[in-house]
Amino acid sequence: MDHFEYVGGAMLVEQVPMEAIAEAVGTPVYVYSTATLSRHVGVFRDALARLDNPLIAFAVKANPNAAVLATLAGMGLGADVVSGGELLRAIAAGIPADRIVFSGVGKTEHEMRIALERGIFQFNLESEPEAEMLSQVALSMGRRAAVAYRINPDVDAGTHAKISTGKSENKFGIPYDRALASYAAARDLPGLDVQGVAVHIGSQLTDLAPLEAAFTKVGALIGRLREAGHDIRTADLGGGLGVPYDPALPVPPSPAAYGEMVTRVTQGWNVRLMFEPGRVIVGNAGALLSRVIRVKEGANAPFVIVDAAMNDLLRPSLYDAWHDIRAVRPAGARVASNVVGPVCETGDTFAMGRDMDRVAAGDLVAFMTAGAYGATMAGTYNSRPLTPEVLVSGDKWAVVRARPPIEALIEGDSIPDWIGD
Ligand SMILES: *Cc1c(COP(=O)(O)O)cnc(C)c1O
Repeated sequence: MDHFEYVGGAMLVEQVPMEAIAEAVGTPVYVYSTATLSRHVGVFRDALARLDNPLIAFAVKANPNAAVLATLAGMGLGADVVSGGELLRAIAAGIPADRIVFSGVGKTEHEMRIALERGIFQFNLESEPEAEMLSQVALSMGRRAAVAYRINPDVDAGTHAKISTGKSENKFGIPYDRALASYAAARDLPGLDVQGVAVHIGSQLTDLAPLEAAFTKVGALIGRLREAGHDIRTADLGGGLGVPYDPALPVPPSPAAYGEMVTRVTQGWNVRLMFEPGRVIVGNAGALLSRVIRVKEGANAPFVIVDAAMNDLLRPSLYDAWHDIRAVRPAGARVASNVVGPVCETGDTFAMGRDMDRVAAGDLVAFMTAGAYGATMAGTYNSRPLTPEVLVSGDKWAVVRARPPIEALIEGDSIPDWIGD
């Protein structure tokens, strides 16, 4: 469910014409809907209503824009961060440190120090050497770090290989079979307060069964850890719930179905449950608005060359991701089209042979469901400036990240004076 709708033949985001945004800001540009964000937060929270005080920590990597984070902070969400940069961005946007959890396999000493200074809620540790380092850093600051171990449950999430994280061969978490030994070692580290268990098996899951299998393993582990004398108070069930991208495919399980499953599986765990949703909160709240530069004949279908490219929206080239592509003002006809960007890579392809609105040079198109893992993955390849972002609320809208001038790229480099000597 989103707030991008056709009224009078053209697409509006809430009450704002996409055409007006393109006119004022130029293209390509990401456009986010506040109403969709708050609707998704509400739906997710309602799905967990039977749990006691769950911590919903938005996965910042899905969309770290300050205005998006501030919107979510205003609705009481915490943050799941995977770097010192994300941590500082979340705090700067108003997310309280005591609602922040720090995930990731490669936390550095410096990042640990920043997180300890701010007083975050929990570190999710991913290895024994990391536990040892965190204990030392905490001790050197006269603190104890609240930690959970992220368990690798060896469950196949059934999603794309590049977004699966819970198989034993993936880099994430500690092996399930070694968990008791790892927890015993962590208990002996004086800088740590071992409070929980965490799991996150992947992203864009379209089936609840792998999640249920992973959570069931976490529940069993909590029992065994308590028998071994650990005081387990939190269980972080990660993120991963999928969103609909292709309207021709079955819709992924709803947050309500997820919430029912979680409520059933975690009955009697007697912990504070934590969640790290990313995509399900922001995915459908964003679209990438782009203009057709020209249409060129192709062997099997016309190439629609748009001014957005793989540097703006990487998901199709990185994960073979599918985004619905719609004309902002559809003329009525449809035609099979190859939609590509201007970057000099064959991978800069958004869709091949796609049945879609017929478009011509100068028309606007919207890549739907681009609010998650969109702008956050943008880069400057081919010396293209970073993509700007706009947030809409009702009839109001604002640029929440401006398009940098090309001079910023040029001036960012420096030429040492010994070149050309
Ligand atoms: C990426 C990530 C998430 C969010 O995943 P979604 O599929 O966007 O919900 C949550 N937790 C961790 C540890 C992650 O790496």
